[in-house]
Amino acid sequence: MITNITRRFLVSLFTLMASLYRDRKTRKLAGIPLVCIVIGFALPQKMIIPVKGATINDWDDNSFWAYPWGSSITHKGIDIFKPKGTHVISSTYGIVIYTYEGGKGGKTVMVLGPKWRFHYYAHLDEIAAFPLQPVKSGTILGTVGNTGNAIHTPSHLHYAITTPFPYWWLRDTEAIQGNRKMFHLDPDTWLRD
Ligand SMILES: [Zn+2]
Repeated sequence: MITNITRRFLVSLFTLMASLYRDRKTRKLAGIPLVCIVIGFALPQKMIIPVKGATINDWDDNSFWAYPWGSSITHKGIDIFKPKGTHVISSTYGIVIYTYEGGKGGKTVMVLGPKWRFHYYAHLDEIAAFPLQPVKSGTILGTVGNTGNAIHTPSHLHYAITTPFPYWWLRDTEAIQGNRKMFHLDPDTWLRD
């Protein structure tokens, strides 16, 4: 039910706080990670569509939580269709957490943006970002492709947003895997203005 990134995030947070607390010299600093978390939540977020030239007509608004969806069971993001090679751009400012090649996502980039939201860009043809790179909204992260399990699908960006902090009010008792809606947010929510 809890996502991998949530687990990793919370474990590293508590490990950091515990190690600061354990040493008497740094005990007073143990609260700093919590202060950082509050600041992260306070940062404003303004999002743009993360594919150059794309409009709200380039994804299907029913694609979020579409079921059935192969081994993922439900589709926890949106697919923005554009020709291979179109620039994938960061939807928000933030910092690149990792780039990765392999598995279902193919070539992927993960960006941590304001409000502790993790922005996931998948099936890229080329990656143009590097870990710990600061990005603005509009910074090129790579190009649209069909790597990973999209190999037989027209080129598109799979774009998903996760939060390590559960949004209890988004829990959906009707939907398949509806508990996970606390952690997987619908990007469509912020891309329509
Ligand atoms: Zn997708």
